[in-house]
Amino acid sequence: MRPRHHRALALLAATALASTVLTAPAYAGSPSPPPSAPPKQPTAVGYGGAVATVDADATAAGLEVLRKGGNAVDAAIAAAATLGVTEPFSAGIGGGGFFVYYSARDRRVYTIDGRETAPMTMTETAFVDPATGLPFAFPEARVSGISAGVPGTLATWEKALRSWGTTDLADALRPAAKVADKGFLVDNTFRTQISDNAAAFGQFSSTAELYLPGGQPPAAGSVFRNPDLADTYRLIARHGTGVFYRGAVARDIVDTVQHPPVADVPVGTWAYPIRPGTMALSDLAAYRVRTPEPTRIRYRGYEVYGMPTPSSGGQAVGEALNILEQTDLSALSHTEALHHYLESSALAFADRNRYVGDQTPRALLDELLSDGFAKERACQINPAQALVKPVAPGQPDGTYTGCGTVAPGAAVLEGQSTTNLTVADRWGNVVEYTLTIEQTGGNGMVVPGRGFLLNNEMTDFNFTPTQGTAPDPNLPAPGKRPRSSMAPTIVLKDGKPFLAVGTPGGSTIITTVLQILVNRLDLGMTLPEAVAAARATQRNSASVLAEAEFAPDIPGLTALGHVFGPSPEIGAATGIEFLGHGRLLAAAEPVRRGGGAAGVVWPTP
Ligand code: GLU
Repeated sequence: MRPRHHRALALLAATALASTVLTAPAYAGSPSPPPSAPPKQPTAVGYGGAVATVDADATAAGLEVLRKGGNAVDAAIAAAATLGVTEPFSAGIGGGGFFVYYSARDRRVYTIDGRETAPMTMTETAFVDPATGLPFAFPEARVSGISAGVPGTLATWEKALRSWGTTDLADALRPAAKVADKGFLVDNTFRTQISDNAAAFGQFSSTAELYLPGGQPPAAGSVFRNPDLADTYRLIARHGTGVFYRGAVARDIVDTVQHPPVADVPVGTWAYPIRPGTMALSDLAAYRVRTPEPTRIRYRGYEVYGMPTPSSGGQAVGEALNILEQTDLSALSHTEALHHYLESSALAFADRNRYVGDQTPRALLDELLSDGFAKERACQINPAQALVKPVAPGQPDGTYTGCGTVAPGAAVLEGQSTTNLTVADRWGNVVEYTLTIEQTGGNGMVVPGRGFLLNNEMTDFNFTPTQGTAPDPNLPAPGKRPRSSMAPTIVLKDGKPFLAVGTPGGSTIITTVLQILVNRLDLGMTLPEAVAAARATQRNSASVLAEAEFAPDIPGLTALGHVFGPSPEIGAATGIEFLGHGRLLAAAEPVRRGGGAAGVVWPTP
């Protein structure tokens, strides 16, 4: 705890309480005129490049780069940096993510793994309370210094721009710094994300100062500015990422983790102790992105590329598609097709939970994505009766002669936040990028004076072993990356981009991407229809969780033995479909999370 923050908060609280206008902008007095909201539509068709994100400002920033002649990578980083301003509770330079890129010149798909790493001091029992021997309650683990991993987002942006961009990081950060300075209009989603996290945010002077001015979330319709983040972006633009990984910002990150900026006078109450973490300057200095080969499977004549470990996205989406490919879904009734979708997802999740973690050997990952293994797993599906969940993992041992046996297993579920963007340019390059700080609001701590939240990605590790007597691939360890579900996916047909799609939503990311692909490739929906369609998620647990709009499909599936439970909205996807001859269809979520924004450079009817 540092006195300067206590004093700052006390001063702020006093000033704010004296104010009668609780809805005033977070930072009043800017000389620039208030911003107007950029146009926002969920679908766009046309030429010359396209952007789809969950946010109108971010889509506008990406489109502007494309209009000025930048490529998909330039636009994607500009959009992502803007999301760090306007979607700060889902993404930002305090977090990590996975970047999938189709290069038109090479006709190849590349990836960047910008996942956060565990500090070298992290042990397997990091999330076990030494006093009780029991795992921490999730909120206690999340709102702590322990949960923060070494951020990978900025290193991802730098790597992507250096490898494939035409601009540099300074150019890519400029539009976002402008939005942070000038401000943007608060919408209901932004406000609700703060009010849902007010108890956590209110514990930290830096976070309360920024997001709870006067002790309240800013009002919908007010202008929100984040000059600290604008300054941080400009500092990075001037000095490069070294200032973040080895310089002044690194010192502030470590200080925040080791000495959480707990407020003297918190806003609201928090039921748990706030534990410091052990991340050190050496951990930040040692951070490197990885560039693994993407996962690749063939599905009904398409090539589906995804993210390998530490994400389970490529494995689980790919394995489920491989299982589904054993059945001609278009010949089935809608209910029967959904039955296969749910069963293949449960089987793929069982294998994910048992085998997939940061250190999974590539050969095992490839085995999980083999057709032989998929046949064995598909054979376990009974078209007339749902399997009892959770199902046990299969045996990806290279010997696939029969059906194998399917026995009860263990379920592992996770929460949701994150953001996703899709960009294509006039040259045919494509970016699918999912980035996150884990929970909405990350670990709740804004780095004082820097304007960004830290992630709580380390809580994506399992706190205790989940696989019985078998080893758990996702326990914490020094320098390890926690397993993710992020599934940025690029689909090629005849070697050319056909579709790119991704979504937020924790472990529902996998089922949402899978469901969108099945809806689009098998069930005759357009991409916007597939993105909008009601969702149901089966992650190898007793109940399928379904959105309210899924209700009409429930009776038929219940008759087959599926058990349903309610779910709030699942995901907020974005995607682009390549319609041929350079024509693009960009689709963002129309309703969930307040709806996203799709745009193209040259719209056509
Ligand atoms: N931390 C999650 C993951 O990597 C993503 C966060 C979310 O969408 O909830 O899978």
